[in-house]
Amino acid sequence: MLYAYLVILVTLYLIGLVLAKMQTWAPSVYLVCRRWWDYQLVGATVGTAVSVVGLVLVHGVVLVSASGDTVFEQHRVISDRLAQLGTVDLGVALLWWWHPVWHRWFARLGLVALVYHGGFQWTKHYYRRPHETQWQDLGEQHGLDAAMRTALGTWWPLTVSSTYYWTGTIMALALVALAVGSHRLVREGWYALFRAIHGVAAVVFLVVGLVHHWIVAVAFVGAGGLWVANVVARAKKAERGNVLALVPVAEDVVKLQVSYQGSDVAPGQYLPCSFSGSAWKDTWWSHPFSVSRIDPQRLTFYIKARGRLTRQLYEMAGDKEAWPSVQLGQPLGQVWAGLECPVVVLIAEGIGITPWLAVLQAAAASSSPATHSTYVIWTVRNTDLIAPLINETTTAHIDWQIYVTGDYQMESQVESLAIPPSCSLAPPYSHGRPHYPTLMESIRSRHPTQDVAMGLCVHDDSICANLARSKKFSHSQAVWHVYSERFDV
Ligand SMILES: Cc1cc2nc3c(=O)[nH]c(=O)nc-3n(C[C@H](O)[C@H](O)[C@H](O)COP(=O)(O)OP(=O)(O)OC[C@H]3O[C@@H](n4cnc5c(N)ncnc54)[C@H](O)[C@@H]3O)c2cc1C
Repeated sequence: MLYAYLVILVTLYLIGLVLAKMQTWAPSVYLVCRRWWDYQLVGATVGTAVSVVGLVLVHGVVLVSASGDTVFEQHRVISDRLAQLGTVDLGVALLWWWHPVWHRWFARLGLVALVYHGGFQWTKHYYRRPHETQWQDLGEQHGLDAAMRTALGTWWPLTVSSTYYWTGTIMALALVALAVGSHRLVREGWYALFRAIHGVAAVVFLVVGLVHHWIVAVAFVGAGGLWVANVVARAKKAERGNVLALVPVAEDVVKLQVSYQGSDVAPGQYLPCSFSGSAWKDTWWSHPFSVSRIDPQRLTFYIKARGRLTRQLYEMAGDKEAWPSVQLGQPLGQVWAGLECPVVVLIAEGIGITPWLAVLQAAAASSSPATHSTYVIWTVRNTDLIAPLINETTTAHIDWQIYVTGDYQMESQVESLAIPPSCSLAPPYSHGRPHYPTLMESIRSRHPTQDVAMGLCVHDDSICANLARSKKFSHSQAVWHVYSERFDV
């Protein structure tokens, strides 16, 4: 045992030495390792790291150790194991329902595993059929392909031939509904429909799955139990806050201030907020909003009227009597970890500036700021949003670069596009869209050897998001850490 520890320690030491040398020998390898270290390992808790490594190992061992006397037998073993793994993956996705990234990735893993399993089970039948006596003649006369093609016509008798097949088919259809129903087109166009499909398909998958195989019951009763515990724990930690202010600050944008007793919110995070007044309904249907300002016992949000709830909030603003109470769930999302970076670049489109306001507040409050240069690139449609939101920040040394995309050439709009005098910082602004490659290149060339923390809250298809995710700006002397926030779930 002692030898094993020694070997591990020496190996780690040697890896460290090699990595340190990599900076000069092979900068791109060094960069990949450093990104892994910075993004994946340093920020993760020990628990998360152990879970992820454990899960990767489980997937690897289960698949690599599959063996059989024939190739067919080997595939059968893999198919069965993937069915179990896929079920567990979906169970994990269920457990992490509140975490969009993990939920999505485990659901995808489960889907891929179950597609393999289903595909194998169906082709197994068609593979065998041509070898059965009544199909052999056909096979001999017209070849295996022709026999298999004809065998395809037997799908219905196959579907109803055994409990495995009919339940498996329904489960496959439920998975298709889950995948198609959560497509971005559905989520963005009909959010309530997406939630309904997700709920119904998940229940169908689960109930039929119990008939399909007992393993589904074991996996989902376990995951379901933990899921219920998680929902209850979150509901218990949720807190009901009073609305302290609800004021319109620009066209279709409202400022919401809520009393909050918790102390666990950090810049960059968002809170699930619900306004129905019913504890039960609030547990199931909340809306995420990024916190823009964290004060003792008070949180501030800026909310853009987008759909039913947000428009209701906007319309309620004038009528104090109608102000709802707010249930605030536990804070979620990535905590901004860029305070240690010498250079900070925050990029936002429209209301996407909200998480970065809290980051700027934290930077201004820091007693020993490590950041010496802060750039904010913000694209807005109209100038009326600029003054109220910029006035929320107190840091003087911010290089604001604001782009107004509204139709400024129309005579009637010229006046409303002027920055109001109430804007204390009066930053310069340009019309049109930013040319992100040029802007980022100029920042990079100003700080060629300094690490940059970049926050992005832009539309997913924005050129800037792709550019920032590319490795273009990082090199061995300066790493660009990218933190993305997405308002599209
Ligand atoms: C992490 C995160 C932080 C956000 N922060 C802010 C913010 O600071 N300010 C702000 O104005 N907006 C923010 N949003 C967007 C905000 O959550 C939606 O605009 C709001 O939920 C729309 O609700 P609705 O009933 O008015 O509109 P709907 O018509 O119901 O939906 C409009 C769109 O909003 C999204 N959406 C709706 N309901 C939900 C929900 N329960 N959960 C997630 N997305 C939903 C869907 O994409 C939907 O297509 C944030 C979103 C996310 C994911």
